Amino acid sequence: MSTTLLRNLPSIDQLLRREALQSFIAAAGRDTVRDRLRDVLEEFRRELVSANGKADSLHDAESLGQEIERRLSARFVSRQQLQTQRVINATGVVLHTNLGRAPLSESAIAAINEVARDYSNLEYDLASGKRGKRGTGLEASLRELLNCEAAAVVNNCAAAVLITLNTLAEGGEVIVSRGELIEIGGSFRIPDVIAKSGARIREVGTTNRTRLSDYEKAINENTKVILRAHPSNYRVIGFTEKPALEELAQLARERGLPLFEDLGSGCLIDLNPLGIHDEPTIAEALKAGASVVAFSGDKLLGGPQAGIILGEAELIKRIKANPLMRALRVDKLTFAALEATVAAYLAGRALTEIPVQTALHAKKESITERSRVFIAQVPRQNHLTLELLDGYSVIGGGSAPETQLPTTLISLTSSQFSPDELEERLRLNSPPIIARIQDDRLVIDLRTVSLNAETEILSALANLAGR
Ligand SMILES: *Cc1c(COP(=O)(O)O)cnc(C)c1O
Repeated sequence: MSTTLLRNLPSIDQLLRREALQSFIAAAGRDTVRDRLRDVLEEFRRELVSANGKADSLHDAESLGQEIERRLSARFVSRQQLQTQRVINATGVVLHTNLGRAPLSESAIAAINEVARDYSNLEYDLASGKRGKRGTGLEASLRELLNCEAAAVVNNCAAAVLITLNTLAEGGEVIVSRGELIEIGGSFRIPDVIAKSGARIREVGTTNRTRLSDYEKAINENTKVILRAHPSNYRVIGFTEKPALEELAQLARERGLPLFEDLGSGCLIDLNPLGIHDEPTIAEALKAGASVVAFSGDKLLGGPQAGIILGEAELIKRIKANPLMRALRVDKLTFAALEATVAAYLAGRALTEIPVQTALHAKKESITERSRVFIAQVPRQNHLTLELLDGYSVIGGGSAPETQLPTTLISLTSSQFSPDELEERLRLNSPPIIARIQDDRLVIDLRTVSLNAETEILSALANLAGR
């Protein structure tokens, strides 16, 4: 069998003449395509010799040619693939940083659309007909929602921490617990951000235990800020201790120091009913007496990428006056989307309107039901087996690392494709479908899939048979 196939393998020159290859030749040049073809053919020969059965369905020169084309195209990253584009998140990771975190609400999308198309009152006061300030509308909504004195918006939470520390602590010391010297993703580390802000770090306590007295003893004439950072993406468990935020706030007040809390996710809705016990809400942090808090726009809030800083009017005023503000400010699209996102919370409609909140609050039973209906709609293919499995979704985005949300997974196994091949086929679909592999099966979690996207996954699965 494999010897016939080996003999039938088309030559490189024959392959180079194939219609489907002309676009690669035009884009990358004949020599590059020739080199890649050589690799593909080599890989193919090895497989045929080891006779692992995969190539059994490829009897004739044409199906061989098609398979070689498919493998070749997988080696070319097309310009289309490099473009920022919509993908379907079938991973069940609600805030997937690699996949752009929060999908926006319909009203946020409409708001972006509206101001994108035309001019806007970004820095224009409609009441007086004079120059206005960016973000006054958002600030008013946030004040109403959270009863805070003032708000400022920058590019992301990392920028919020940087500008806050630079404003309040440049040239002085920032006190922070050794248990909170965290890293969020590769490039955000608390000690590095403090250094970049022009302040010096004053570490107190130990990794697992820091007492109020540790903070107290560290305060000196150079102290400018007490920093509390939410260890979003990890937990210290066991023999641990840290002062309550209220206690820290009282100490800061007594010593005339600002207490700054980097909340990270910044949740507006109490997630305890979902079994998520380690995400303090923004309101709780403000109520406990933090002078300033910072959080992301595109984590649990479910809005666009942004860093939101809330707190005492005098401190926020100083932050806004910092020249860094100009470097870190956001545009009209971000303000429009944030305002619409916050409006949904104000109207009490966040659970139904904000996709992140809808996904988090989706009950396992409803995901099971959707998955059942989904499976029934997949056209029968002999090589494909679909089953429902119990599993878990995760929040992601560096939030509540210990929390898993019970879900139902759709498992796909094929006698024709390995899990990796299935994963690749879905990933290279248009639109790309990102699934995960678990226990040697490809699994799809509908928690993060919109109803529209479900239909697109169905048609991708219908086309799987393709060879
Ligand atoms: C995620 C996170 C950040 C960074 O937020 P970005 O919006 O991604 O810049 C900072 N601090 C904490 C505690 C976080 O969880």
